[in-house]
Amino acid sequence: MSKTIKKVNIPFYCYREMSTHFENRGSEAIGFALCSKAVRENDVYLFMKKFMPISYENTDSSPQYVKWKFKDMMPTIQEAVDNGLCIIKVHSHPNGFNNFSETDNNSDKELFPAIYELTDEDSYHVSMIFLKNKSLISRYVDSEGTFKDIPKIIVPDDDIKIFHREEFVGTSSNFQRTAQAFGSLTVQKLQKLKVAVVGASGTGDPTVTQLIRNGVGDIVIIDPKESRQVNMNRMSHLKASDVMTKKPKADVLRDHAISTGLNVKVKSIVKDVGDEEVIKELSTCDIFVGCMDSVRGRHILNKISSSYCVPFFDIGVQLKADGYGGISSMWASYFYIKPGGPSLYSQKVYTMDKLQAETIKFDDPDHYKDLQKNDYIVNVDESAPAVISVNNIIAGLCVLDILGRIHPFRDESNSKFNSYRFNYCEYEPEFIEDHEPCSLFLKSVSEGDEISLLRNSKGSKLNQYYSEDMNAKSTEKTV
Ligand SMILES: [Zn+2]
Repeated sequence: MSKTIKKVNIPFYCYREMSTHFENRGSEAIGFALCSKAVRENDVYLFMKKFMPISYENTDSSPQYVKWKFKDMMPTIQEAVDNGLCIIKVHSHPNGFNNFSETDNNSDKELFPAIYELTDEDSYHVSMIFLKNKSLISRYVDSEGTFKDIPKIIVPDDDIKIFHREEFVGTSSNFQRTAQAFGSLTVQKLQKLKVAVVGASGTGDPTVTQLIRNGVGDIVIIDPKESRQVNMNRMSHLKASDVMTKKPKADVLRDHAISTGLNVKVKSIVKDVGDEEVIKELSTCDIFVGCMDSVRGRHILNKISSSYCVPFFDIGVQLKADGYGGISSMWASYFYIKPGGPSLYSQKVYTMDKLQAETIKFDDPDHYKDLQKNDYIVNVDESAPAVISVNNIIAGLCVLDILGRIHPFRDESNSKFNSYRFNYCEYEPEFIEDHEPCSLFLKSVSEGDEISLLRNSKGSKLNQYYSEDMNAKSTEKTV
């Protein structure tokens, strides 16, 4: 057993199905789930695709045990074999016992070697328990029936549920004041959280600062560009000397994070969001925050979020100049995207025309110029006004929203606050309630490394990826 399963990500709808199946029953119940996997060196990450309950009528159960027929799990095994998926056995403990029992140990030692006999030897099968308080614990069981606890399970619902296997130790004195506001358990969860911030200038800079100062323990900063003089008006940690040496923006924020001495693990990647290294790094994160202007970048991030079932926050700022040295509108927004729910696209943050234009401009700038000359394509925004005060406000609201989903503190359900828009010229903030799932992204939830961005070769990947999504355009309404 050389590899370690680090985490299981579960889409909200699978978790809700599990709750319906297991809750409010005096006796144990059982079901099986199928997962895709991502192997990153010695670490393995699992992403649940679907939950398949075994009906109560076909089991013999009490508050202490559940017995079922092996033949009832054959459809699960067949689907795992056909699609190279991993299996999770999930049963409930309705009596409040918060660990694997001796009965579970004996059952798993017998069951799992039999499952490995029938499936791919590269599989990673798991035993999970749905506890009385609705939390989950899990362990990897290898082909010999040896167990290894899985440290983390994450369910990105309206609340982001994070279940840790190990007990927490005390809160560092650095974050005592945050703990006074959000509870020491929240701070301890933040210290075990890995968050990526994609885009390191206007809104990325204050987002990274606030995540670190609130106690997030592991930060990844991604931005392909070097710092320029125009960034001086909005990056708090940018120095004239950084601009002189053209230091990458991601490295500027990384070095600032290290200089705080807050014992945060930090890594910068100076690459585009569509790069293979970035996609693979993001797949291992617990949350990521998109701080990008580009439609192309936001579409790609939404795709990565769905494919690896990682909760995603998008921060957008759009200031429009009136052409006379003033401002005609000043929009700022954040969206919380739970995989399998509404997407940025279904919430009309952008259109496919805009995505097409940016994609062609990125892949083939000369071709884009030709199309533009002949009015065959919409214009890509070249540069827009930017003001640090607007960026700081919206980044602050988004970080508060992240905290509020890990530790719910609002009077009403988080589902009422899944997106927020504000036009500072009108001063009318607007919260938008959760609505219909986006069919375009729903089909890619938990597909793992099958994500089209990794599947296609460098030259064609974005066009290929874009053409798959273009089918959605026929039903698109103009915004
Ligand atoms: Zn049990």
